Amino acid sequence: MKKSLTIRGHHLLCILGFRGKGYSEKFVANMERIVEQYQGNPKLKIEVVDYCDDICRACPHLAGKICRQSEGSADRLEAMDRDILDRLGLASGQLVTVEKIVERLKDRIKAHHLTEICRDCRWLSLGYCHEGLKRGGVID
Ligand code: SF4
Ligand code: SF4
Repeated sequence: MKKSLTIRGHHLLCILGFRGKGYSEKFVANMERIVEQYQGNPKLKIEVVDYCDDICRACPHLAGKICRQSEGSADRLEAMDRDILDRLGLASGQLVTVEKIVERLKDRIKAHHLTEICRDCRWLSLGYCHEGLKRGGVID
């Protein structure tokens, strides 16, 4: 098991909403491993970033180090990363424990923020992420 993970800002929310669905079998298997590691280890160090991360590594949309999910996705998703990191008072490249991230999420993220931050994401309307944030105690 790796001693730390590199996770981009918006994936700190996606991890909570994950329901075993994703872009390919390889992507889902990798995401499952990461979610298990993240959720089972409050002291695990996470390098939070605003670029492609350990989850993107197994994604069929990754080309080199760039997300090619759709036209403009790289810039749009990096902006989303910076948005969530700003709201959490974290900077790209910072090393922070899972428990500190969860504490910041609980203190600073409200239900309407998810709708703002994730407005362009096709997964939002499924409701998984709102439910995941509730299950994780981040929102009421
Ligand atoms: S709505 Fe999309 S970007 Fe937002 S947490 Fe869910 S999967 Fe991630
Ligand atoms: S769609 Fe883009 S940001 Fe999302 S996991 Fe794939 S490469 Fe990463």
